[in-house]
Amino acid sequence: MARLYYADSYTRQFQARIVERTDVEGRPAVVLGGTYFYPTGGGQPYDVGTIGGVEVVDVVTRPGDKAVLHVLDAPVSDDEVNCQIDWARRFDHMQQHTGQHILTQAFVQTSGLQTVGFHLSADTVTIDLDAPALTPEAVTTAEDLANAVVWENRPVTARLIAPDEAEGVRMRRLPDQLTTDGLRVVDIDGFDQTACGGTHVAHTGEIGLIKIVRAEKRGDKTRIEFRCGGRALADYRLKNAVVNGLTADLTVGIDEVRLAVARLQDGMREAQRGLKAACARLLEADAAELLASASRSGEIAVVARVLAGREAGELRQLAGLLARGDGVVALLGAPGAERASLVFARSANLTADMNALLRLALAELPSGKGGGQAALAQGGGEASEAELAALLDRVAQSLKPGG
Ligand SMILES: [Zn+2]
Repeated sequence: MARLYYADSYTRQFQARIVERTDVEGRPAVVLGGTYFYPTGGGQPYDVGTIGGVEVVDVVTRPGDKAVLHVLDAPVSDDEVNCQIDWARRFDHMQQHTGQHILTQAFVQTSGLQTVGFHLSADTVTIDLDAPALTPEAVTTAEDLANAVVWENRPVTARLIAPDEAEGVRMRRLPDQLTTDGLRVVDIDGFDQTACGGTHVAHTGEIGLIKIVRAEKRGDKTRIEFRCGGRALADYRLKNAVVNGLTADLTVGIDEVRLAVARLQDGMREAQRGLKAACARLLEADAAELLASASRSGEIAVVARVLAGREAGELRQLAGLLARGDGVVALLGAPGAERASLVFARSANLTADMNALLRLALAELPSGKGGGQAALAQGGGEASEAELAALLDRVAQSLKPGG
C-alpha cells in the first residue's frame, strides 16, 4: 500500500499492478500495488486521470486499512495497467497547497495568528485565521512576506518521522494531516515545518505568486481567500479585463474609476429625482386635458377614456388627480399585452359606487377580476382596445340620468 506521491509528487505517468478489485457505492474501484494518485484528505481534493485508459472519477482512503481506492468510470480487465495523472489539476493543487503552508506561516510571523481551517476546491482556496478582525495592513504585510519566501525559491522537502520523534520537531500541525506510515513533515527550508500528507512543489518559486483576494469575518474567525500560481494569473487576467473595460467605458485612468462610478451614481439619482418630478407634472397636464374633454351628465363630468400604453399604476394616479375636484367620475382603461387594466374613481362629493360599477363591467370581460371601495376601484380582464372603449362607453351611458 505504498503512497508513492509522498516521496515524489512530480510523477504523472506510471505502470502499476492491480492488487484488489472492489466497488465504492456501486462504482468499480481498484487498489494498486503502489500509487501516485492523491486521495482526498487534509483539505486537498483527489487527483483525476486514467488507469488502463479508464477515467478515474474519485480517489478515497478506505477506513480501516487506509488503502487508496481508485474509483473508476468502468471496470478495467488488465492486471498490469498504465496510469496517467491529470497534471494540470495536480500541479494546481501543489501550487495552492504549498502556497497555503507559506501564507499560514506568514500570518504566524507577522501577526501571531494561527490557521484553524483550510479549504481547497476547484473554485476557491481559503484559510481561516483565529482572529475576528484583521487590518488591511496586516493582510498586506503577511502577503509581502509570503511572496518574499516564494521569490527566494526555497527548497520544499518531505520526510517521514516516527511518532515518538515528533515531540522534538517544532512545527505547526493541522488536524487530519497525519499519515498512516508515521508522521510526515513538510519542510519549507528555514521558514516552516508542517505535518502534512499532501502534495507540494519542490521549490517555492514554482508557486509564482500568492495573492490574497478577500478577508472576510466569519464569527470569531477571519476567512482569507487567496490565489496561487495559475489561479493568481487567471484572476489577474479577469480583473485586468474588467478594469480595462471600465477605464475604456468611463474614459478615465485606473485610479479614477471608483470616483467616476460614484459620479455616475450621483448623476443617476439626480436624474431619477428629476424624472419623477417631470412625470408628476406630465400627469397633472394629462389630467387637465382629460377633464377638459369630459362629457357632462348634469352636474357630473364623466371622463371615460382608453389610454393606450399606460401602466395600471399610472391609470390609478391619473384617476386620483381627476377625482380631486368636485363632481368628477373617471372611468379609465388601458389595453395590455396580456390583460387590460381598469380604474374607476369619483370625487368625494358624489355617491355613485365605483366598486359596484367596476364589478358589473368586469363581468363582461373574460377572466375579469378586481374590486375596491365606493370611491376608487381597479381591476382587469381580457379585452382589446376597441372592446375596452365600447365597455367604458356603456358604463358612462349608465351614469346618465335614466341611463
Ligand atoms: Zn501540505
